[in-house]
Amino acid sequence: MENRGKRQPDVSGCNKNATCPNSLGRAEGLRRRMESLLEEEGLAAWVGRMLPEPALARHAFRAATAECPNACSRPQIKDFGVIQRSLPGKGGGACDNCGLCVKACCECGITLDARGPAVDLELCVRCGACAKVCPTGALRAEKKGFSVYIGGRLGRHPRLGVEVLELTDEEGVLLALRAVVKGYIREGRRGERFGDLADRLGLGRLKAEIEAALSGQPA
Ligand code: SF4
Ligand code: SF4
Ligand code: SF4
Repeated sequence: MENRGKRQPDVSGCNKNATCPNSLGRAEGLRRRMESLLEEEGLAAWVGRMLPEPALARHAFRAATAECPNACSRPQIKDFGVIQRSLPGKGGGACDNCGLCVKACCECGITLDARGPAVDLELCVRCGACAKVCPTGALRAEKKGFSVYIGGRLGRHPRLGVEVLELTDEEGVLLALRAVVKGYIREGRRGERFGDLADRLGLGRLKAEIEAALSGQPA
């Protein structure tokens, strides 16, 4: 029975009961909707039929949401990972050169001169900290959303998940998850973990299926 529990699909997230100061917005509702989707698609039952005995924890389908790029729930090493992000942009307020945004940025992603702040989007991880602390509205959250990663894993051949969507909304995350789970159930072989299926089919093909699901067109 213990093995049975370990192989159940699982969606982890940030603290369920309290809001972290770094959170860009609660994602607990999204996390629960992801759990319901996995149940609706019958993933647990399929996994129960397809996986070997003894099934180990490594055989389970794992997903995670994180409410900011600190990614405490480790979404980059899950089969399906979600990270909330906030892209900063210029707001309508005048910059008074207080320097709070520069101090708040852990990535050295902001430079400041007489014209105001300039964000280096190559360094910026979209954590939203600069816009949160700006007292005048010179910086604002231009776009908030979720990055989606697939195919991450630890084990013998560890790999970080590949980003397949950037700054999508909650519905985009759910469409992507449904496409991934349907693909796993359709194509997965007995005893095959999702990460191994991703290797066999190619992450590019799975990404194309997700993009097709979002556009409503067949892949
Ligand atoms: S991922 Fe971000 S919001 Fe979630 S617990 Fe970690 S620091 Fe807090
Ligand atoms: S969003 Fe975060 S990483 Fe990007 S510039 Fe602002 S503080 Fe730096
Ligand atoms: S952008 Fe905002 S936080 Fe940054 S220096 Fe200007 S006023 Fe201060």
